[in-house]
Amino acid sequence: MIILKIGGSILTNKDSKTSEVDAVSLKRIASEIKKSLDSSDKELIIVHGAGSFGHPPAKKHRIGEDFDKSQYPIKRLGFCEIQNEVKKLNMYICEEFIKQGIPTIAIPASSFITAANKRITNGNLDLFKNYLHKGFVPVIYGDVVLDDDLEFCVISGDQIIQYLAVNLNPEKVILGTDVDGVYNKNPKTHDDALFFDKFSSLKDLDTLEGTTNVDVTGGMVGKIKELLYLADLGIESKIINAEVEDNIFKVLENKKVKGTVISRGN
Ligand code: ADP
Repeated sequence: MIILKIGGSILTNKDSKTSEVDAVSLKRIASEIKKSLDSSDKELIIVHGAGSFGHPPAKKHRIGEDFDKSQYPIKRLGFCEIQNEVKKLNMYICEEFIKQGIPTIAIPASSFITAANKRITNGNLDLFKNYLHKGFVPVIYGDVVLDDDLEFCVISGDQIIQYLAVNLNPEKVILGTDVDGVYNKNPKTHDDALFFDKFSSLKDLDTLEGTTNVDVTGGMVGKIKELLYLADLGIESKIINAEVEDNIFKVLENKKVKGTVISRGN
């Protein structure tokens, strides 16, 4: 089983304040996944980020922050708005995947996952297993969920990756984003950033700058934290650049691709 995440930075124009799908990238990535499914049998789960569909409304409604009881109805409506926005992005993605022949089935986190203090505590994955056994490709994405402590919270695609990997024990965990992997500082704002082939500790980062864009779920640092948790359990993951043509296909086919392996080993 392979768990593949496609970052919101690839599928949407994440710097934008409005929801925009990057249709060209979406088409190319769908075709790379299809090519790989055609070339060999594999169980594949896709996770995608929320990008410009999720982050601006999540920021606007301050979901995940403490609020006064009197604000409950307005917060609840904000929750609904975010859920609907990320569902729209998912719909565009699934539409393109299905068009290209990928047997895609959307399983939204808001429909079966709950959290406590912004961390997933419950989410029965039997349905995932069932769909996988029948040859479907389940798709799940960054979403809003009910939170036992905060009423509502946002969970990132990166946290979902971690939850799925811990519970499903995949052979491979791959994250496609818009940079080659992890550097000691943000490569988009620092020309002298140094690239890591392997990454094993947050101490190796010079700065804890999250991301270049409006990200409410932690950007690169949030991603790394989730993956280091997996590394502690002995589950290795790899961050690659999904903007480079054929990288997704190659990584699915075990071919060599530049990227950062997150592991605690040497
Ligand atoms: P995605 O939406 O693909 O999951 P994010 O936007 O959350 O990705 O995170 C990727 C971004 O993180 C990159 O575009 C980069 O600008 C930023 N970033 C910040 N710090 C680093 C770092 N140390 N190494 C690599 N990228 C970093």
